Amino acid sequence: MTSTQARRMRRPVLQAAVDAGAGCTKADPDLFFRADGQPPATWQAQRAEAVRFCHGCPARAACEELALRDGDGNSRVDDLVRGGRSGSELAALRERQAQRVGAAIAADEASDTEWKKLTSLTVDLNREAGRTPTRSSGMPRQSELQALQNQRIRNLVAQISQIRSARRARTGWEVAA
Ligand code: SF4
Repeated sequence: MTSTQARRMRRPVLQAAVDAGAGCTKADPDLFFRADGQPPATWQAQRAEAVRFCHGCPARAACEELALRDGDGNSRVDDLVRGGRSGSELAALRERQAQRVGAAIAADEASDTEWKKLTSLTVDLNREAGRTPTRSSGMPRQSELQALQNQRIRNLVAQISQIRSARRARTGWEVAA
């Protein structure tokens, strides 16, 4: 997939390409992020190595496009590499292509009710997982409340997993699903 092709694709296809081909799953994840307090000289060398690594990744174009749509990178903070670009390069590219990226994000949202459902389920899951069940008078025992919460979490995980697998299968990435 080239960058030109990636720009025309909707998010599920881009995400499936990254899920299936991301080279960084076989690399040290720390390579792509600047450590707290890391001196500029060592970060520059590491950043160059990460960029080289990305340029050998089959999912690079899809990854770069997702990074642009996700708002990754910051012109004031030089602390990451994604899609073969530093954070400041991503921010500059997004600014140059603001109109195109904005239209792509809007098209993703408009065409993808399933993605909205996935996002909503993920929010529900995070909320449920972060909640501490508390009992008051007339309610079941604490252990029962905990069991009910665990069941709700299992249901949400199952729904998310089912949608993700179906999306990947539809976009031709069955192996990754
Ligand atoms: S382009 Fe780089 S950051 Fe993106 S998936 Fe590939 S190796 Fe990972």
